[in-house]
Amino acid sequence: MNLINIKQLKPQLKASSLSSINLRYMQDIGKQGIILDLDNTITLWKEDVLANEAREFIEQAVKLQFRICLLSNATKNRTAKIAGIYNLPYVSLARKPAKDAYLKALRLLNLKADEVVAVGDQIFTDILGGNRAGCYTILVPPLGPREFVGTKLMRQLEKLVE
Ligand SMILES: [Mg+2]
Repeated sequence: MNLINIKQLKPQLKASSLSSINLRYMQDIGKQGIILDLDNTITLWKEDVLANEAREFIEQAVKLQFRICLLSNATKNRTAKIAGIYNLPYVSLARKPAKDAYLKALRLLNLKADEVVAVGDQIFTDILGGNRAGCYTILVPPLGPREFVGTKLMRQLEKLVE
């Protein structure tokens, strides 16, 4: 396992929700793409329905001509199903915070890391991985209380680094 650089556990931005992310501002600072986490960021854990807030966020981003790629540790079937709702490219079985998965997502977006915002609800996967890849990282609160038992453990660790 790679060593963790403590600085890479800090998001550039902590948003109170997806809808509070100012996409126009992101555009102003040169961002053109969004790497989006799945579980507890745009859907409830293990559910295949997009949260209303996530729909609005994605639709606004598409309108502003952002390119969006889903990036998830979830299975191919599930990730593909949700990506298919808006016909988005996706990377499944990502093993975040592995950098490879982010590089793959950047290739799918055809953008450079500094042109991309990575959004997710977990510090040790979404934020660490996004920072390692060189993206602008945004932490959002989890949509729901249910999650993988390993994730619950990581939340305790997250408290230590916050
Ligand atoms: Mg998540």
